[in-house]
Amino acid sequence: MRTYDRIAFAFTNRARSSLAARILDGTKIAAEIRAEVAAEVKALAASGVRPGLAVVLVGHNPASEVYVRGKVKSSGEVGIYSEKHTPPETATTEELLELIADLNRRDEINGILVQLPLPPQVDAKKVLLAVDPAKDVDGFHPMNVGFLSTQRPGLVACTPAGVMEILKRSAIPVAGQEAVVVGRSDIVGKPVAMLLLNANATLTVCHSKTHDLPGVCRRADILVAAIGRAGMITRDYVKPGATVIDVGMNQVTDRAEFDRLFAGNRKREETFLTKGSTLVGDVHPEVAEVAGAITPVPGGVGPLTIAMLMANTVKAAKMRERQK
Ligand code: NAP
Repeated sequence: MRTYDRIAFAFTNRARSSLAARILDGTKIAAEIRAEVAAEVKALAASGVRPGLAVVLVGHNPASEVYVRGKVKSSGEVGIYSEKHTPPETATTEELLELIADLNRRDEINGILVQLPLPPQVDAKKVLLAVDPAKDVDGFHPMNVGFLSTQRPGLVACTPAGVMEILKRSAIPVAGQEAVVVGRSDIVGKPVAMLLLNANATLTVCHSKTHDLPGVCRRADILVAAIGRAGMITRDYVKPGATVIDVGMNQVTDRAEFDRLFAGNRKREETFLTKGSTLVGDVHPEVAEVAGAITPVPGGVGPLTIAMLMANTVKAAKMRERQK
């Protein structure tokens, strides 16, 4: 290589690396939170309190089984007592309501989590509504949703709470910033939006009927993608330097889709060829070249969900102790 080419090459490389977004490491942040929760559990044990979590898993949904295993394992690691209830796939709404009523009554249970989705014959809304709001560690009960929107203390949905922890622990300012959330589901989009608003962001919520989505997203200092569409947010949706939080978790199995997202990424290709799939967020990997900071998938928002469930279980235990 000629001297001029070598200098040009080195310059381009440096320019490229200085443009690359800061990676917000969710695995590390989740580990910090779990360590703090474990310390709190120890402190509670000294006063004779042991937080307890009951997980209800109906039937045999393979993805739900994996999530529940993770939740039970994580509970054990931080010292939370946990128990798993596994009603059959044929369980009725009434049977589940009886189980919830029993868990609501039991003093050693501070948190109740009903793993979704529930089988079609079950009235899921009725079952979730039956959970005592003080034990609703998923934060889905309308009473907790109301507490969040009126800024009262309560239990906040885990993934949205995890998004805020990433921002806080990465020292990313929220107050006064333009925040755009793409997605308005009850479990992610809406609670994330409410948390950002409560933290004094100037908020826009987008959905499938939003006009000029790329243009609206480009206004964002903080862009949260909770859509469920692999790599939909490309570089033309992102203002240079913005913080991009990718909540999406999508399995890509199609080769053409893989090439659109990861062409030239050897490490990903190895995983894809071995497993036949790879996990991708709602944000296209090319966005890392424009954003100021970005959460990776995997290893971004995902690990925070279980960490916040642990934190919520301890919070629920403490709130109940205070009321005794
Ligand atoms: P959801 O209930 O399907 O909601 C998706 C939202 O995206 C809806 O509001 C929908 O708009 C909007 N949307 C869909 N297509 C769009 C488009 N082309 N343009 C603009 N908006 C569009 O999904 P969710 O439960 O919120 O989950 C979202 C993603 O987060 C999924 O990938 C899910 O797997 C992931 N997730 C991750 C975690 C975690 O732990 N990391 C936890 C939960 C969920 P409409 O309302 O108009 O239909």
